[in-house]
Amino acid sequence: MTRYSIFSLARNAFSHHENWPKAWRSPEPKPAYDAIVIGGGGHGLSTAYYLAKNHGMTNVAVLEKGWLGGGNTGRNTTIVRSNYMHDANALFYELAMKLWEGMSQDLNYNVMFSSRGVLNLAHSDSELERFARRGNAMRLNGIDAEMMTRQQVLEMVPLLDGSARNRFPIYGGMIQRRGGTARHDAVAWGYARAADARGVDIIQNCEVTGIKTEGGKVTGVETTRGTIMAPKIGIAVAGHTSQLCEMVGIRTPIESHVLQAMVSEPIKPILDTVITSGAVHMYISQSDKGELVMGGDLDGYNSFAQRGNPPIIEHVVAAVLTMFPAFSRLRLMRTWGGIMDMSMDGSPIIAKSPVEGFYINGGWCYGGFKATPGSGWVFAHTIANDAPHKLNQAFTLERFFSGHAIDATGAGPVPGAH
Ligand SMILES: Cc1cc2nc3c(=O)[nH]c(=O)nc-3n(C[C@H](O)[C@H](O)[C@H](O)COP(=O)(O)OP(=O)(O)OC[C@H]3O[C@@H](n4cnc5c(N)ncnc54)[C@H](O)[C@@H]3O)c2cc1C
Repeated sequence: MTRYSIFSLARNAFSHHENWPKAWRSPEPKPAYDAIVIGGGGHGLSTAYYLAKNHGMTNVAVLEKGWLGGGNTGRNTTIVRSNYMHDANALFYELAMKLWEGMSQDLNYNVMFSSRGVLNLAHSDSELERFARRGNAMRLNGIDAEMMTRQQVLEMVPLLDGSARNRFPIYGGMIQRRGGTARHDAVAWGYARAADARGVDIIQNCEVTGIKTEGGKVTGVETTRGTIMAPKIGIAVAGHTSQLCEMVGIRTPIESHVLQAMVSEPIKPILDTVITSGAVHMYISQSDKGELVMGGDLDGYNSFAQRGNPPIIEHVVAAVLTMFPAFSRLRLMRTWGGIMDMSMDGSPIIAKSPVEGFYINGGWCYGGFKATPGSGWVFAHTIANDAPHKLNQAFTLERFFSGHAIDATGAGPVPGAH
């Protein structure tokens, strides 16, 4: 693998950048592998990378029905944080946060991780108290959290409407300064390149249409490019989790919903942190290209379509303008949607399944991008050892039957409230 550096950049400048080697191969599928990962998003690719790097499993294929990162990985609003209250989520997302911090160096690929801080706005005293409770829980788990007064918030983000006119007045906030954003498709490409360099076959335009089992064990997959055998199969297919699980007869407590996002036209830098408001339900940041990146709530009905409806766009824009009236002068440039795998407690499933050799990674709801490196790390461990890593021990499928839900929001099993 060519090492990307200032020297390789300079060397390639002499040939007008026409001779860069391909970042990864496009091999024909082999008849059999030691393990197959279905889904070429960030989670599938990071799983393959850590299978090779941490567990020496290199006879591995990643099967992707479209193109790498064409699912939610390339459609999200790129917010990365580990500001969770419950231990299971907090410790797991903090592993991911630590991996984000060293990812560009580890992969030798600039994923543009930017610790610009994630600031949650509070609009009432009770919200401030809830933030203080969550912040204290985070600090007990060694995760950074800082409460901010109203004045500190308005000094840091002067474009926020701090006037008495604001229907959702700003009472203060909580910030995780190590949180921020990363370039989403670079994450998929970086993991793909690093996994390929370790021998993993990455096969695009290869849809899995069936999963073969024999005597309660998986044996391989049927695909649009033929049958491929493997004793271990992991799925990381986000909004398609329920469909892939049905192929081996497993019903999952997951609903697929569309979530939209949008960007404004690009402008000069005006917002240097990520702002979220749970009360109006919006989140906003400015990309390195200058666009304001915005998102909000689910469309609110089950769907496998990667597009949504105008009312949600209107809702998100209205919420953003409530907080930032000055942005009303901007034009929206693009909107799009992705399929969310909403679990019933807002926490993921990263686990073995009742079918031997079949492993599930899904249920990411709104928040799986930030989990990408941690998810791959623990899922690879689970597949390689046929046993969970200690950080995904709680994320079982069985918790929904036994009542050990990990309620990520305090709102109960209400997908719409996540
Ligand atoms: C609008 C939006 C905003 C978001 N904002 C954030 C955010 O700010 N922060 C955050 O942390 N998270 C966010 N998320 C969530 C996050 O994007 C996802 O949870 C995460 O990217 C999931 O990654 P993945 O690799 O599991 O899934 P994906 O990237 O969706 O990859 C799954 C892949 O599986 C493939 N696949 C499906 N079925 C098959 C099949 N039968 N055969 C072969 N391949 C198949 C798909 O084509 C797809 O490429 C957002 C999501 C959306 C849609």
